[in-house]
Amino acid sequence: MFVVTDIDTSKLIISGRFFSFKKTTAYYIKSYATDCVKRRMKIVKNLPQVAYFCMEYGLDHSFKIYSGGLGILAGDHLKGAKDNDLPLVGIGLKWKQGYVEQKIDEMGNLYDCYRQYHYDFLEDTGVRVKVRIRQEEVQCKVWKVENFGNAPLYLLDTDLPENNQRWVTGQLYGGFSEDRIAQEIVLGIGGVRALRALGITVDVYHFNEGHAVLAGLELVREKMEAGQSFHQAWENTRKEVVFTTHTPIKAGNEHHNIETLLYMGANLNLTIDEMTQIGGVPFNMTVAALRLSRKTNAVAALHNETANTMWSDIVGKSEIIGITNAIHRGTWVDERMTNEFKNLDELWNNHMEIKKELIDYVEKIKGIKLNLNALLIGFSRRAAAYKRSNLIFRDEKRLETLLERGEVQIIFSGKAHPLDDSGKHIILDLVRMSKKYPQSVVFIENYDMEIGKILTRGCDVWLNNPRRPNEASGTSGMKAAMNGVLNCSILDGWWPEACQHGINGWAIGDEVVLNNELEQDEKDAKALYQVLLEEVVPTYYTEPTKWREMMLASIQSTKTFFSVDRMVLEYYDKLYC
Ligand SMILES: *Cc1c(COP(=O)(O)O)cnc(C)c1O
Repeated sequence: MFVVTDIDTSKLIISGRFFSFKKTTAYYIKSYATDCVKRRMKIVKNLPQVAYFCMEYGLDHSFKIYSGGLGILAGDHLKGAKDNDLPLVGIGLKWKQGYVEQKIDEMGNLYDCYRQYHYDFLEDTGVRVKVRIRQEEVQCKVWKVENFGNAPLYLLDTDLPENNQRWVTGQLYGGFSEDRIAQEIVLGIGGVRALRALGITVDVYHFNEGHAVLAGLELVREKMEAGQSFHQAWENTRKEVVFTTHTPIKAGNEHHNIETLLYMGANLNLTIDEMTQIGGVPFNMTVAALRLSRKTNAVAALHNETANTMWSDIVGKSEIIGITNAIHRGTWVDERMTNEFKNLDELWNNHMEIKKELIDYVEKIKGIKLNLNALLIGFSRRAAAYKRSNLIFRDEKRLETLLERGEVQIIFSGKAHPLDDSGKHIILDLVRMSKKYPQSVVFIENYDMEIGKILTRGCDVWLNNPRRPNEASGTSGMKAAMNGVLNCSILDGWWPEACQHGINGWAIGDEVVLNNELEQDEKDAKALYQVLLEEVVPTYYTEPTKWREMMLASIQSTKTFFSVDRMVLEYYDKLYC
C-alpha cells in the first residue's frame, strides 16, 4: 500500500528557473499526495491486471539479463509495482549469456567477451509454449523470478536440448536482423502464449519499447482465429495495449524488411498489405506499436515534446503523453542518505563515508588512490556518440592544471555496443586520458549495476552532457541526486523538470539547439567549462556550507517526484486505467 510520508511542500515549490517544474510538482503534490493516492487506495482491488513486456530487466547486478537504462527502468518498475501491491507481471527472456562484458587488455585494446551464467533462484513454472521461427517449431520454457523484491517476472528460455534454435535467448542485443526478429518472436508471441498457459488474465498489455510489438500481432491473430475480421481484431487489440517509446533518434527506432519478417514467420499469417497498414514499409517497430496501442507515453516532459514532433506524421497512431521516469529508492539510494539529518555536518559526514568506500573500491580494482578531499566527478554512460563522454576534454588545456594538481578528479565508466566502433573509440579516448592524468582520471571498465550504484553514491558531482534533445530521460542522475551527489547536466531528459540552477545542482548552458552538431558541441563545451570553472569548483573549495545546502536541496527536491512510487501510480492513473 502506498503512503505518502515525505512531501515537503515548501522545499518542492522553490522559485526555480523552470516553471514547468513548479507546475508539475504542484500538480503531484495536490493530486498524488491527497486525492489521487487516497482514491487509488480505495479502489485498489479494481485496478487492471497488467502484463509488462520488456527485452531486458535490471533487477540485480548478479542477474545478467540487462544491458542499460531500459532494463534498469523495467526492473525498477517491477519493484515499484511490488512495493505498492499493484497487479502487474513482467514478461521477458532468460538470457543465457546476457549482455557483453567489455574489458581492456594490457596493451590498451578493448575486447568483448560473453560468459555463461547459471542461476539457482529461477523457479520452473512447468509451463512450456511453442512458437514458430523460420517454419520450425521452437519450445520455450517459462521460468518465474520473484527474488529481488519485484512483481512476478516470467522469463522465456529456448535453451532446451530438443530445440535446433536454442541460441535465440543467448545474447542480449547480440546478432543481426534475423536474430533480433527471432528474439522478438519469443518475447512477444511466446510471451502472450505464456500468459495464456499460466492462466493469467490480462487487462492491459504494456510494451516497454518496440521490441515487444509482435505480441500485438499475436493478439490480433487470436481474435481473427475466433472469427473477427482483421480490422475488428486490430481495433479490439488497440483497446488493450499501451506502449512506452524511448528512442528520440529516428534512426535508433528498429525496423525490418517485411519480406524478412514473413520469412521468419513473425507476421503470423498476416498479409503483406496488413503488415504494411500496421508498421509501414519497411516495418517500423515503433510505428507499429503506436498503431497497435490505445495510448503511448514518452519518458520525460521534454521527451514528450520530442516524440510528438518526431511521430507527428504517423497516421492512426495513439495519443502520446509524458510520464517521467523514476528510480527505486531502495535499490539506488544509500541508507545513510535517507535519514532525517540532524544538521548539515551529519549529511556531509555520511557522504564522506560513502565517498571513501568508492575511493577504496577504485584503489582495489585499479590500484589508483584518489584524494578524498578533492572534488570527484563521476560520468558513466553507454558510450554512444550523442552522449559525448569525452566532451570535457574538448579543450583540454582549460582543465590541464586542475587535473595535474589533482583538484579535479574524474571517474568514467561505460560500455559500447559490440558493433559500435565510434562508441569504442570514445572509450579508448577516455582510457588515453586516464593514462595521461593517472592520478586524476580513472576509467572503470565493464560498467554494470554494481559500478553504477557505487559511482552514483560516492562522487561529489554527476556529469551529464548529451547532445540535446537526444536523451529520453536518463535515470543515473536521479540516483545521484537522491544520494546528495550534485548534478551538473545539459538540460536534457529529466533534468529540466528538476534543475534549479545553483540551488540543487547546475544546468550546463541553455535550451537553444543549433542546427550544426559541431557548433553545438563547441557551444556546449564552452558552457561546460564555464559552469565547472566558475561555479562548481569554486563552490566546492570555498563555500562548504553552500555545497552542503545544495546537497540537501538535491535530495529533498527529487526524492518524492523521481521515486518509482510516483511513477507506477502515474502509469495506473494515466495509461493503464
Ligand atoms: C542507472 C543505470 C543506467 C541508466 O542511466 P542513464 O542515466 O540513462 O545513463 C544504465 N546502466 C546502468 C548500469 C545503470 O545503473
